[in-house]
Amino acid sequence: MRPTIFALATAPGRAAIAVVRVSGPATAAMLTALSGALPPPRRATLKRLRRADGLTLDEAVTLWFPGPHSYTGEDAAELHLHGGAAVIAGVAEALAHLGARLAGPGEFTRRAFEAGRLDLDQAEAVADLVEAETAAQARQALAQLEGALGQRYRTWRERLARALALLEAAVDFPDEDVPADVAARAAPLVDGLVAELKAALADAGRGVRVREGYRIAIVGAPNAGKSSLLNALAGRDAAIVTPGAGTTRDVIEVALVLAGHKVLLADMAGLRPTVEPVEAEGVRRARAWAGAAALRLWIVDAADAGGAWREGESLARAGDVLVLNKIDLGCAADAAEARRAAARLGLAVLEVSALKGVGVEALAEAVSARVAAELSGADCPPVTRQRHARLLGDALGHLERARTAMPAPELAAEDLRLAAAALARITGRIGAEDVLGVIFASFCIGK
Ligand code: GDP
Repeated sequence: MRPTIFALATAPGRAAIAVVRVSGPATAAMLTALSGALPPPRRATLKRLRRADGLTLDEAVTLWFPGPHSYTGEDAAELHLHGGAAVIAGVAEALAHLGARLAGPGEFTRRAFEAGRLDLDQAEAVADLVEAETAAQARQALAQLEGALGQRYRTWRERLARALALLEAAVDFPDEDVPADVAARAAPLVDGLVAELKAALADAGRGVRVREGYRIAIVGAPNAGKSSLLNALAGRDAAIVTPGAGTTRDVIEVALVLAGHKVLLADMAGLRPTVEPVEAEGVRRARAWAGAAALRLWIVDAADAGGAWREGESLARAGDVLVLNKIDLGCAADAAEARRAAARLGLAVLEVSALKGVGVEALAEAVSARVAAELSGADCPPVTRQRHARLLGDALGHLERARTAMPAPELAAEDLRLAAAALARITGRIGAEDVLGVIFASFCIGK
């Protein structure tokens, strides 16, 4: 018999109430032992909880969820206790004494998945909803939990199955006139899927950025004012500001909420040629982070006509922002070379004084507008994790191979089967055990 598990479902620490969750075949017996009798199903019932020796543990609201209509699909219960550490410990001890064991991370949700109550993408959405810090993250996770993402993959798989059935007919009846005709009918189905998967992959960044945070790199030469700008934008002293060049060696990330979205703003080593090994490593990390970021703010000291801007030019992309800093120093903010580069590369130009806070508000607004424009979408994005993007890419590869193999229906059919398997792995109905382990390990205990 599978073990009955329990865990504190609310955050540890002193609180008005604490919820202990129990799930597994022995739940009914344990609830009866603790509270005297089973309460009616799904009805909050006040009960005195007692240990085996009769000692009262708490007066608690109990909920009994007989399987299969419970979160896990098994018999399950919730005990709403007074939130003190001693009460929780007493009930935990009593449950352990009755034979329950402490649940591992995500074990309740894993059981729900195994019972077919949730698909894998929905289980991921449960974790995302628990982790959500912004309204946008919560909205996206909820849409995914309600099946918006899974539905899209199901439709793709159904269309794939139709194309596959056509090709299989061509393989099964090679002597009749069907084959050529049938392959011709399968081709447009595959073409349509290829186009849609390509579009979904092109849009993959949106969902991942909503979930993980929209990354903005502050890049520029040493002493241009990167740390000062990070602090001004973040509204607190997150980075160390010093007059000496080359102080920031590691990437310093600060999480902010802009336009309702999570944003990761990063300060990093100034880009300049160096032979000093620690600084060189800092520059390498800065380049890697900035290259992968969604947006780069290029800081140039306005008094520095050239701007050690050349160091980063290869990383700049259209849509990035050139920030001319230190305009309070009174020098005409010419920075001619940087401005020319900005015009050539399609960068917006803004003037600020990070030290005095001038122009910082306008910069924050410009960045917010950009984040909102990029991340807001009418629908639930098709991809919210790297895992989805990887499998979607695999499926697309197989579909494209199937398309070229079409004159040989048996080969094309095999590629379609592989594409279907890759799509199925996203919602997890075909799942490798190790993938499940990794996904559920990232959950909190009690979920
Ligand atoms: P980083 O090396 O690019 O991170 O630059 P910091 O933020 O550490 O700043 C380098 C120096 O420039 C410090 O002494 C700052 O006080 C100064 N600084 C930064 N921004 C401004 C500004 O807008 N105006 C003036 N006058 N000085 C600034």
